[in-house]
Order: sequence, then structure tokens, then C-alpha cells
Amino acid sequence: MKPKRRDFRLDIIVLLGSITAVTIASFGTYRAFAGQWPMAWLDLGIVVVVCLPVVYAWRSGDSVRAGNALAVLNSLATFAACLVTGHTALSWTYLVLLTNFFIAHRWLAVGCNVALILGMQLIPGFFHDGVHAASVLISALLVTGFSHVFAARTQDDRARLERLAALDALTGLPNRRSMERVLSDAVDAFQRSGRGFGLVVLDLDKFKEVNDLYGHAAGDAAIADLASILRFEMRRNDQVFRFGGEEFVVLLEVDSSADLEAATERLRKAVRGALRGPGGRITISLGSALLREQEKTWHDWFSRADAALYRAKSAGRDNYVIADDLF
Ligand code: GH3
Ligand code: MG
Ligand code: MG
Repeated sequence: MKPKRRDFRLDIIVLLGSITAVTIASFGTYRAFAGQWPMAWLDLGIVVVVCLPVVYAWRSGDSVRAGNALAVLNSLATFAACLVTGHTALSWTYLVLLTNFFIAHRWLAVGCNVALILGMQLIPGFFHDGVHAASVLISALLVTGFSHVFAARTQDDRARLERLAALDALTGLPNRRSMERVLSDAVDAFQRSGRGFGLVVLDLDKFKEVNDLYGHAAGDAAIADLASILRFEMRRNDQVFRFGGEEFVVLLEVDSSADLEAATERLRKAVRGALRGPGGRITISLGSALLREQEKTWHDWFSRADAALYRAKSAGRDNYVIADDLF
């Protein structure tokens, strides 16, 4: 079974694991032909051990656990190679010190690295002399320190980018991308536990006129004001998204069509009472739909709410239609 979603860590695990396995298998084959059987068996063991988390990650898509396991196994295998081959293995340890940060949680990578670095210091006769031991100790700790700083920075940047990618720039509301994720989760929660949800799609009425008569900046201001009103009207467990343009989506936790209708009408009235543009009152039309059991994806649910909105527009605007009335 292929993983549902690929991620950077999974790509690195598969790439690193495969390259490590192929490289060590080549060394193992050479050593077997040269009659160095202990090393050949060690190489074979490392290949098997490295392949396990790669296969697990590939099959399950759980790159976090697989990455952590691979970092620990890689570090152990490197230590074993240091024990058996002596400082011939030293150059490879730097690769492991670095790649641990690509695949594991950064504090686990620090732990693996420190254990490996100190472990090497304890192997009798591993270094030429004290200066060699000290220079490896310091350079390996520096590689670990710099990698840790770089990993922390990358993680922060990634978290910030993800936050930005989830928000709409004009209103600060979660955008369509976030909405799709949240609606999918709501459909899953409904299928699993029967928690009821309602969806409201709303659109500003005759908004083109606001732009045409008073300019795009006035239109933007009205959209931002509408977002503030909607945000203010949200109750606990309600969420509002900017779907795009002057269209917004509200997700409500409701059990009945009557509750959904009451909430929809409350939103309409709140906007009618508070939203003003340069030309006066600005209204919205709304279409709502209660999530139904046969709806396995959010698209069908959304389409019903959107069709209801279309009906509300056709019926004269500044009103709402509940989709369940239609079907
Ligand atoms: P209706 O009542 O049928 O909805 O009429 P409408 O004029 O609002 O029609 P429609 O919804 O199709 O118009 C959308 C308009 O919203 C067109 C576009 O100029 C404007 N618009 C969409 N996004 C933005 C935005 O981010 N800023 C501004 N200022 N205008 C926007
Ligand atoms: Mg529109
Ligand atoms: Mg409109």
C-alpha cells in the first residue's frame, strides 16, 4: 500500500535508507569475496536493519516514527562499524551525524549524536593519539551543534509558512485551503461519532456596484468589515473561512435543521444591522446545508449549500435558503 501523503522527511528516509543499504551491500559483497566474513555479516545485518524502517515508512506513511527509528539504528550501526573496523569508519560517522537531523526529531538527533561521539571516545585504540581524539570530539560536536541550530531554524520557518499559507491576507481568516481540511475532518467526525454539522455559504449582495461606484479599496474595506462581524458572531466550536472573493463559509456544530436555520438567520441579521459601505447598508445572502449521512466527502455537502445560496440570490437577496428544504 502506498502512503496517502508524501512528505519531505519520508522522501529523505527512503532516499537515505536506500542509498545506505545499496552502499553497505556493495561493501558487504566485496568483503565476502575477500573472505572477510565477520565484516560481511555485519554489513548484511546493517542492510536489513536499515531497510526495516524504510519499508515501514513506505507502507504506513508514518515518517516520524520511522525517521526516529532510522536515526537510532543508523547511529548504532555506525558505532558497530567503528568497533569492528576502527577509524576507517570515521568519515562515515559525519554523514550520520548530519543526516540524523534530516530524519529524526532534532533532540533525538542530538541524543544519538552525543551517544555516538562519546561512544567513539570509549573504544580502546580507536584514535591515533589524544590530539586526534580531541579534534574528532570537537569537530563532531560542532557538526551536531550547527545542524541542531539549522534544524530548529528550518522547523520554525516551516511552521510560520504553514500558518501563513492557511490564512487569508485581507481578513486574517482561515482561507479555502484550511476550510477544505476542516470540512473533511467534520465529515470524518460525523461518520465516526455522529456529531452534527451545518455549513453556511454566504455572499455579499450586489457587491460589484460597491467596487464600481466607490473603488476597490472601499470594496476591500467592506470585505474586512464583514469578516470582523462574522468573527464576532462565531460561538464556541463555530468556524468562519474566507472561501474566496466576497464569499465566506461558516461551519457550525448543530444537530437539527431548525438550529441551522436559526444560526443562519442570526448571521443574516447581524450583517444587515452592522455592515455599511460608502453607499449605505450592504447585505448578504446565505445558503445552508446540514451534513447528511450519505455525504462521504465535503464537496457534496458544500454543493447543496452553494445551490441554496444561488436560490437565495434568485429569490431577491438579503435572505437565506436551507438546502434541506430543497431535496
Ligand atoms: P450578487 O448579489 O449576485 O452576488 O452580485 P455581485 O455584484 O456581488 O456579484 P458577484 O458575487 O458575482 O460579484 C463578485 C464581485 O466581488 C466581483 C469582484 O469585483 C468583487 N470582489 C471579489 N473579491 C474581491 C476583493 O478581494 N476585493 C474587492 N474589492 N472586490 C472583490
Ligand atoms: Mg460572489
Ligand atoms: Mg456577490
